[in-house]
Amino acid sequence: MSKKISIIGSGFSSLSAASYLAKEGFDVTIYEKNKNIGGRARRLSKDGFSFDMGPTWYWMPDVFEKFFADFRKKPEDYYELIKLSPAYKVIFDVDNSVSISDDFNEILQTFEEIETGSSKKLSKFMNSAKVNYEIAINNLVYKPGNSITELITLDTVTKIDQFFGTISKDTKRLFKNKNLRQIVEFPVLFLGAKPSNTPSFYNFMNHADFGLGTWHPVGGMYKVVEAMHQLALELNVKFATDASVEKILVKDKTVTGIVVNGEEIKTDIVLTGADYHHSETLLDIEYRNYTEKYWSKKTFAPSSLLFYVGFNKKLENIEHHMLFFDTDFEKHAQEIYDNPKWPKEPLFYASFPSITDKSFAPENHEAATFLIPIAPGIEDTDEIRETYFNKIIERLEKLTNQKLTKNIVFKQSYCVNDFIEDYNSYKGNAYGLANTLLQTAFLRPKLKSPKVKNLFFTGQLTVPGPGVPPSIISGKIVSELIVKSQKK
Ligand SMILES: Cc1cc2nc3c(=O)[nH]c(=O)nc-3n(C[C@H](O)[C@H](O)[C@H](O)COP(=O)(O)OP(=O)(O)OC[C@H]3O[C@@H](n4cnc5c(N)ncnc54)[C@H](O)[C@@H]3O)c2cc1C
Repeated sequence: MSKKISIIGSGFSSLSAASYLAKEGFDVTIYEKNKNIGGRARRLSKDGFSFDMGPTWYWMPDVFEKFFADFRKKPEDYYELIKLSPAYKVIFDVDNSVSISDDFNEILQTFEEIETGSSKKLSKFMNSAKVNYEIAINNLVYKPGNSITELITLDTVTKIDQFFGTISKDTKRLFKNKNLRQIVEFPVLFLGAKPSNTPSFYNFMNHADFGLGTWHPVGGMYKVVEAMHQLALELNVKFATDASVEKILVKDKTVTGIVVNGEEIKTDIVLTGADYHHSETLLDIEYRNYTEKYWSKKTFAPSSLLFYVGFNKKLENIEHHMLFFDTDFEKHAQEIYDNPKWPKEPLFYASFPSITDKSFAPENHEAATFLIPIAPGIEDTDEIRETYFNKIIERLEKLTNQKLTKNIVFKQSYCVNDFIEDYNSYKGNAYGLANTLLQTAFLRPKLKSPKVKNLFFTGQLTVPGPGVPPSIISGKIVSELIVKSQKK
């Protein structure tokens, strides 16, 4: 009889692991506490509008291709992809913005127009970013993070300095223009830390940006969740929703089962894709790998204040993805990481998917998602949310030169308290544990429990890190560990 695996949570990492494990012949069931699957990537549908509640940037299409290829499938078997051009637009002021083309030669031209000589420097930087992408994404990120030796390869020993330099030092050395530096620093924000705290080697994210481009799955990022759900069903994975796991049962230092909504379910193996900190609270203290002190000392990726907004008209002067960098980047970063508090003048991100994709809004309407990155764990009240909504709408009106407040027909906010309530997220973090030098690879929380046999972890708090592609990879790596552990 096949061994029974219970997976906690239905985020990308769990969905990925479920398919790999089912393919290996395990009897897999996913238990998800919410009504809908997808974790932080759920979809909100209301009044004819549709919103991706979490991820909106489809980067690193090669990782998705590799995932589906492992099952002899292609992303196109499940969803259609559009390459966005411009990929995104960065707003620095009313009359100062930069559109990033989907063509690298055009990006070089844009840089050169802003700073003479910068295109040559960008070209050189991007060559290194491409090499690092190949080393990282084709090799390093697929390692389980067991030991430092995984990082020492013929390719990486020559790049040791890049683990100790930082992205912000590199951009300062390369570009005088502050706006160009911010554009080049933007992709590493996906890793959850400040560019001044992110190793130079992570410039592979710049290859993901300028090299591989920004894509949009028709129907939104939730289409990818639906695709992975369908694949898992094709492989006979079972799904239980509204199924909150309350306890992981252990006997003789070995997993024996889980308690779901008060009911005991026997299982041979438990894999949890819920936030690592929460997963450990499902264990008796003696079986936990990490203490509260350990978690409190970690650099968490930001939480977010989000607004899902529907307008009853088409908006002007907007693009699919827009970064509002019209305030002080460094100051906002300090208010997230160094001195956690509500930012005085926040940068924000806006997505208007209905420009590209009709499924997001009724005709002649626009769907928008606004995101302000904030420190995890800060006070979250309706009044604070409203203050920030007014701040960003006022700026949006001014920067895009149009009146909008009277055209809002739908609005819903999402913040720290929702992340905790919906996902059992530690301090309401949005993107898990940041990828700093001391939180990279073997220095991240472990995929395999050293204290309990047949207990495994996956997701954005473990290896390789935050983001949809890394979460999919995390599911693959942990499933390989599980398969190996059962062969012993
Ligand atoms: C606002 C936002 C924007 C983002 N933007 C991007 C982007 O543009 N591009 C990108 O690549 N990435 C982005 N990310 C990051 C990306 O979404 C995440 O890294 C990824 O979705 C995490 O997947 P996961 O499997 O680790 O965890 P999750 O998606 O958090 O899944 C964990 C699941 O476990 C469930 N769970 C928790 N406790 C229990 C329990 N006790 N019992 C049962 N189930 C439980 C939760 O409900 C949840 O469904 C964004 C994230 C957020 C929040």
